[in-house]
Amino acid sequence: MLEVKNARMLYGNLVAVDHLSFQVKPGDIFGLLGTNGAGKTTTFRMIMGLLDPTEGEVLYHGEKVGYHNVNEIGYMIEERSLLTKITVKELMLYFGQLKDMSPKVILERLDYWLDRFGIVEYKNKKIKELSKGNQQKIQFISAIINNPKLLVLDEPFSGLDPINTELFVSVIRDFQKQGSMIVFSSHQLDHVESFCEELIVLEKGKVVIEGRIDKVKKDFKKQNIKIIGDVDIKTLEAIPGVYKVIENKNQVIAKIENEEVAKRVFDYIKTCENITKYDVEQASLSEIFIAKVGQRS
Ligand code: ATP
Repeated sequence: MLEVKNARMLYGNLVAVDHLSFQVKPGDIFGLLGTNGAGKTTTFRMIMGLLDPTEGEVLYHGEKVGYHNVNEIGYMIEERSLLTKITVKELMLYFGQLKDMSPKVILERLDYWLDRFGIVEYKNKKIKELSKGNQQKIQFISAIINNPKLLVLDEPFSGLDPINTELFVSVIRDFQKQGSMIVFSSHQLDHVESFCEELIVLEKGKVVIEGRIDKVKKDFKKQNIKIIGDVDIKTLEAIPGVYKVIENKNQVIAKIENEEVAKRVFDYIKTCENITKYDVEQASLSEIFIAKVGQRS
């Protein structure tokens, strides 16, 4: 188990992470989300033992991460810093041997991953000759080459196209199935909704949202009603509990305070002609985030 216990990190007077606590168990995919500067990378550096928390502690199976257990961990750092003048094969031999792996095992696994990522032809190419996306795949492979039991991924999906995002997700899911713990960060809140079950959203080092995504959404009472058809915006806006109405090209979104308001909106919709479709949707994670951060300031 990975335990972040009341961790606080100061850089001078700046509180980068403020009393953060969470646990990750084998088979969990845990998302650490937040806008730029929220404290995600600082948290990962504390997990990896590269930074000592000013207060609190971070424990991996009850111990700090250090030389004795780091071979079980894979870390993909946010800065895409690979050694660009050497080949993919040389780089992987270097990283793998740092993790006490034999060259034979490293090369077997490298062949497997290059094939899975569809980049077999780059094995003997220099890193600098690879596209940004392919360099990202190599960086990811360097984090998983040791078959980690804990996989720490700082912005793994940043800059990836949808097909490669799916590819990364499928590999991460395989690690989940074999019981690894996965912690990843992202600044794209809605992007990860279907990917992780449990998350923390940080803003300036403080937790603003935490828990299982389904519960976070259920606890947030506000909802959206999407309507396709002819409605009168002013009438919708006048319904008590409707706090905003947005007109898009071919749909109208009525934002409502809670599900009781939906009935009043439906009663009005039933009086309209030419309604093709209407649906209630839960608020997105970004909407919840904006609502919570707005309330705090
Ligand atoms: P991003 O999404 O932009 O990578 P992040 O959520 O990873 O951001 P951190 O890199 O952890 O955020 O930074 C948290 C805060 O700590 C920011 O205000 C940042 O400027 C500050 N910070 C980070 N590293 C240092 C450092 N070495 N010295 C001083 N301040 C730092």
